[in-house]
Amino acid sequence: MKTSIKQVLESTAFDTDFTVNGWVRNRRINKNLAFISLNDGSCAGNLQIVVDFDKIPEENIKGIGTGACLRIKGTLVKSVGQGQDRDIAAKEVHIYGLADGETYPLQPRKHSLEFIRENAHLRSRTTVFSSVFRVRHALAYAVHKYFNDKGFYYINAPIITASDAEGAGEMFRVTTLDLNNPARNKEDGSINFKEDFFGKSTHLTVSGQLEGELMALGLGNIYTFGPTFRAENSNTTRHLAEFWMIEPEMAFFELEDNMALAEDFMKYVIKYAVDNCDADLQILQERLLEEEKAKKEDERSPMPLLEKLNFVVNNDFEKVTYTEAIEILLNSNHYKKKKFKYDVKWGIDLQSEHERFLVEKHFKKPVIITNYPKDIKAFYMKQNDDNKTVRAMDVLFPGIGEIIGGSQREEILEKLETRMKEMNIPTDEMWWYLDTRRFGTAPHSGFGLGFERLVLFVSGMTNIRDVIPFPRSPKNADF
Ligand code: ATP
Ligand code: MN
Repeated sequence: MKTSIKQVLESTAFDTDFTVNGWVRNRRINKNLAFISLNDGSCAGNLQIVVDFDKIPEENIKGIGTGACLRIKGTLVKSVGQGQDRDIAAKEVHIYGLADGETYPLQPRKHSLEFIRENAHLRSRTTVFSSVFRVRHALAYAVHKYFNDKGFYYINAPIITASDAEGAGEMFRVTTLDLNNPARNKEDGSINFKEDFFGKSTHLTVSGQLEGELMALGLGNIYTFGPTFRAENSNTTRHLAEFWMIEPEMAFFELEDNMALAEDFMKYVIKYAVDNCDADLQILQERLLEEEKAKKEDERSPMPLLEKLNFVVNNDFEKVTYTEAIEILLNSNHYKKKKFKYDVKWGIDLQSEHERFLVEKHFKKPVIITNYPKDIKAFYMKQNDDNKTVRAMDVLFPGIGEIIGGSQREEILEKLETRMKEMNIPTDEMWWYLDTRRFGTAPHSGFGLGFERLVLFVSGMTNIRDVIPFPRSPKNADF
């Protein structure tokens, strides 16, 4: 029977035989013994295989180096060497596939993240990335568990959409028209999307929120967890062209309920990772410490990774209004010494430098900013009585900036229609959305969490391309 390396590393059944499969991380020979560290992805740890040439001829394992794939049958014994408490004393070594040391890109020595990114097809075989992807899995599972336990329904919003009204970002077009010879309108020569697959112009979704609202206003509490696409040409360490978003939407929720849910949810999923991914997080913590050695003192994280995660789980998020946040910025020494690149005044969209100042320098913990000026936020956000602000909330995290964007939604038909007209959003095309306000409207709220930004925060990685298996970004769709 095949056992995973995780099971063998946790087993107490010494002197019994096990069969394991895996890839060689490292191999060394000392006199008449070969030591092979084997990893099968089931956990962070490697299993040490000891091959005694008195029992297995040396030529049987000739050619086995880093990257080779093996099946080993052997006995679990207490290790005499240092660094591990157990070995498998090999009885049989079967080679599934060798990997030529001259051409196999991954060597036992350390590679730069940049190098591994260029070889992303093999990164599941590296220590750091297999840890990242196990943590990613745990977080995804925790997201579903959290909502399921709270009675939320998992809804799939469409990926192809004809509505581009959300305005959350630049969209990718979906078409089957012949690019060399597209159908054109007779009158003005513009492209005739009536001839296109769906009979209208369509794109990849930037958010499932509008559909989420339709579902919540019938099912009560729902969440989506699916891919979203933004053709934003921003080559930052926090933006992807294809990313996964979690969007809960709740009927009979006001902004305060929405904030409380967002905080409880974030703490839950982070705690889940801390409780279930200790070995992986230790590896990632070490990696981060190593990376930060090269940085200046004041650019380093104030806490090691695990301490930071526990800190977030155990402390209340700070809550301030946008107006208060602007006051804090204006009163800061940072502002007075003209250290911000972008100007600060009421009405601006907070720049990442402002957000990071608030979170990292001023509050030193996650912050929820509410009640933004209506002119910098989307049409569907509930308007406050002051006529200037909307019931929006952004959750900002240290080192990340915005991790969640959400709001209470405008449920009053007239107010929503007026705002749409002001913002040039076609109310006739959006009839289906407005129907929810026309028939049995209800207060409701929701938010969007960028899943990769969550994984980035929990894993302590610094580039969002390193926390999704196959990143899509400007000029890059390899693998
Ligand atoms: P940003 O200002 O950082 O570009 P946004 O205001 O465009 O974010 P929203 O439209 O509110 O973001 O989307 C909700 C969440 O989705 C964000 O809080 C963030 O976590 C995530 N997100 C947005 N754009 C991207 C992207 N290009 N790549 C990865 N995650 C993203
Ligand atoms: Mn954006």
